[in-house]
Amino acid sequence: MADKIIKIFNEINKEIIEKEHVLTELDNKIGDGDHGFNMKRGIGFVIQEFNQHPPTDIKSTFALAGKTLMSKVGGAAGPLFGMAFIKGSTKMTGTKLSYNLLKNFVKDASDAIEILGKVHLGDTTMYDVWRNLSNDMEKNCPKDQLLKNIIKYRDATKEKMALKGRASFLKERSIGTVDPGCTSSEIILRHFIKEV
Ligand code: ADP
Ligand code: MG
Repeated sequence: MADKIIKIFNEINKEIIEKEHVLTELDNKIGDGDHGFNMKRGIGFVIQEFNQHPPTDIKSTFALAGKTLMSKVGGAAGPLFGMAFIKGSTKMTGTKLSYNLLKNFVKDASDAIEILGKVHLGDTTMYDVWRNLSNDMEKNCPKDQLLKNIIKYRDATKEKMALKGRASFLKERSIGTVDPGCTSSEIILRHFIKEV
């Protein structure tokens, strides 16, 4: 059974609901203010799908999450997170998430975001958190350090001008605000890292 992985998604759902206003506020400053709503709605649909069609292993859990985010969530983040979970699911096996499985997931998800978003490190999008985490995991960086580093990668987006997505329209005025997609990515990835 995929109970443990589904439990992680339920915890993510809970935190996204709690932090919706934070995501909204950040996206109000450098975007169009829909990121909190988009994420809450998207993860909500994912949980609904899990209840209606319970997945049995990690691969089908991630694939269903990806497909749902892709088809139900608007904005840039829906397709990006959707494709990340779909592509990230391909090498998953079994029902227990390990460090090595998560490493493969984050690597394939980062590749998917890079291709779909046509994005580079330092563009100050969600990609900064995903790819830097992937690079750390490739070096087998310990879990406690990963949890500190994803916060560092998220907060670093405050210091730089956004080069991709809606925030880039603001040019220098995007400096001073943490990227909303990095904030939701830190929430999602933290819950997975904690369990490996
Ligand atoms: P939208 O920008 O369409 O309103 P959201 O508000 O839901 O969509 O998501 C915004 C987030 O999406 C940004 O904070 C950023 O992290 C991410 N993002 C936007 N464009 C790109 C891109 N080209 N590549 C990677 N991530 C992106
Ligand atoms: Mg937005």
